[in-house]
Amino acid sequence: MQVLLTEEDLTLKDSIESFVLEQTEKEVNLRNLWQSLYKKSFICQDNSLLKNILLTESICSINPGIGLFLLTQFACIEIIKSFANDNLKTQYLDKLISGKHIACFALTEPNAGSDVTSIQTTAKQKDNSWIINGHKIWASNGSIADIFITFAQTKEHRDKSGITCFLIQRQETGDKKQELEILPDTPKLGVKITPSNEIKFKDLKIDSNSMIGQIGDGIKIALSSITTGRIFCAAQACGLLTGCLKESVKYSSKRNQFGKAISDNQAIKWYIADMTKDLDAARLLLYKATWAKENKTEEVNKLSSMAKYFSTSRAAIHANKAVQIQGGAGLRESSFVANAYRDAKVLEIYEGTNEIQKVVTSKELGLY
Ligand SMILES: Cc1cc2nc3c(=O)[nH]c(=O)nc-3n(C[C@H](O)[C@H](O)[C@H](O)COP(=O)(O)OP(=O)(O)OC[C@H]3O[C@@H](n4cnc5c(N)ncnc54)[C@H](O)[C@@H]3O)c2cc1C
Repeated sequence: MQVLLTEEDLTLKDSIESFVLEQTEKEVNLRNLWQSLYKKSFICQDNSLLKNILLTESICSINPGIGLFLLTQFACIEIIKSFANDNLKTQYLDKLISGKHIACFALTEPNAGSDVTSIQTTAKQKDNSWIINGHKIWASNGSIADIFITFAQTKEHRDKSGITCFLIQRQETGDKKQELEILPDTPKLGVKITPSNEIKFKDLKIDSNSMIGQIGDGIKIALSSITTGRIFCAAQACGLLTGCLKESVKYSSKRNQFGKAISDNQAIKWYIADMTKDLDAARLLLYKATWAKENKTEEVNKLSSMAKYFSTSRAAIHANKAVQIQGGAGLRESSFVANAYRDAKVLEIYEGTNEIQKVVTSKELGLY
């Protein structure tokens, strides 16, 4: 089993990093960033999952918050590739891969977070259309999205066998705007660069061909997408840890106190040694989960949950230490480690909280 990277993979990571460093010198525009990655062929139609994971990891070592934007776009592309009808594939796939269109994944609701089966958004069939009503929260990429992949209950009595997936195209015209209301970006602790939005559907009418999969396939589609999302989230955490490690080595060897570099103190060396060990372990789990997904093994659920849980919990611990190593300098608003510290906390929550990852892992062992 190939879990380690080849020379070619490592070269790819380096070239993505150099390219993105140039791009992120200016203020980052997420759509432009995706489009430029596409133009440089870092993103292509036939990219392997591993290539997209390495791309995410590299970018997140420079700016971890971008990971959520990438994760969402990649996850929505996968939903369309795997479950949409040919018509929707023709209409949207190329546009999403090239970055002409940006996608949003809207599942979570005020009363349906960890328990996604309790969503209350409804979809009712009328002639050749679906009428959607509901309220979504925490929808990543909401304010910049052209299309929305969402989930609604199609049965009168709440039952997960009625949950169905839909694709909604953003409407621009006056009246229609009220049917699809995207609230202003939700201010949040970290991962600020990727917008998070509440979305309201009020008697929104969409074509019956806009259903993805069949009636009742919603949970299957959502869980498949979240499994992939967890691997991207692990890549995001590994990137964040890489950035923290680089910053910690650089800062601690330059900063002198008591007549020597602070890295000469055992306390600081141990922080950095622990960071290095956990980053390596997190990467092994990340690449193993990626391999499992690409090879459709039975272990993929367990591995993606373990990779997400391990890497994000380690990211939170070590981003804290990375700030500690820099003392006051690490608290400056603009410092990489201060942002990584905030971002890391957020990573422990989305794509399923870390408690839920443990629930998934135990279930896979037959414990529930
Ligand atoms: C920045 C950000 C981006 C997001 N992006 C998206 C997105 O693009 N699309 C989308 O649909 N959603 C998105 N989400 C929503 C995210 O998936 C949910 O926040 C997450 O699943 C947790 O749901 P909740 O916040 O309602 O917490 P709750 O489910 O209310 O959980 C609260 C606490 O209870 C614990 N808990 C709940 N159930 C159990 C259990 N069975 N066992 C043990 N502990 C449990 C949780 O672990 C947590 O600690 C995003 C969230 C954030 C913060």
